[in-house]
Amino acid sequence: MVWYNGSRGPAAPGIMERKRGKTVKQSVFAREGGWYKGNLHTHTTLSDGKQTPGERVAAYKARGYDFLAITDHNVYASYPEYCREDFLVLPAVERDAVDASVPCGCLHVLGISREDVPEKVEKRLTFSGALGTDGDYQALLDQVEAAGQLAIIAHPVWSRMTIDHLLNLRGYIGIEIYNATCDRRWYTGKCDYMIDSCLRKGKKALLFATDDCHAADDLDRFGGWIQVKAKSLTHGEILRQIQAGSFYASTGPEIYDFGLEDGKVYVECSPCASVNFITYEQLGRGIVGEGLTEGSHRLTGQETFVRCECVDKYGKIAYTNPIFLRG
Ligand SMILES: [Zn+2]
Ligand SMILES: [Zn+2]
Repeated sequence: MVWYNGSRGPAAPGIMERKRGKTVKQSVFAREGGWYKGNLHTHTTLSDGKQTPGERVAAYKARGYDFLAITDHNVYASYPEYCREDFLVLPAVERDAVDASVPCGCLHVLGISREDVPEKVEKRLTFSGALGTDGDYQALLDQVEAAGQLAIIAHPVWSRMTIDHLLNLRGYIGIEIYNATCDRRWYTGKCDYMIDSCLRKGKKALLFATDDCHAADDLDRFGGWIQVKAKSLTHGEILRQIQAGSFYASTGPEIYDFGLEDGKVYVECSPCASVNFITYEQLGRGIVGEGLTEGSHRLTGQETFVRCECVDKYGKIAYTNPIFLRG
């Protein structure tokens, strides 16, 4: 999680300070290391996906990915057989609870193992709570937490969740701001407004883009990913940097740096058609141009958070995590 306490104290861990001239540049990304690309939401033939785990690994490797979380519906599994120095499969699952009182209402949550699992595990799970109320959503998140997994709320628009669900539920580290399969099949894959509504009310959450791929073709592959800045491609380091917020989500553009410097928020990115700083309050700023590779915005001191979306000429978006400017 990325924090900056402004005048109330030094920057908390997770935001790096780097002197540049007379000012101090505070990047949200780890100071050292390289970028590792990964998709945290993948289905295989172990649930309703159309490719085997091995086929998924081969396809993502060939596309230049460095890691994958295989998240079959209610099947928690590890894949030590596919972990190499240059590729990592994170042990994971997608679990669900249904709210029978709401048409199509449910909670789907990704559970990514906090610890490495060197042995082969494949465990079918059922939700042990009663279904039908918001309390059950919390019970499911509690089970994910108790299982030693990082919880990420998947596709809240597709799941017919409300802003109040996201605000009131506890124990998750982030939300899918973009889900490729929901976007392409049902146009329910984006939830930026829900997320900003929560951030405005003080909720702290990291932002993820994922594929949630089911098909064997590219309909729902290679559409949303994260890029983690980390020292090495190991389970421990990737998980540590995800939790520290040393990553961004994307459907296309790249972000090279994002942070605070001399009272401003800045971003550096691949050529984009707009660079947008979303804040609360004041109003933030959108910058439109051709081939923009950087942007900045002076903060007023009133803001509680700031995040950035860099949009390329094709409408593809890179999303930073929010920087929280107050406790
Ligand atoms: Zn789902
Ligand atoms: Zn899924």
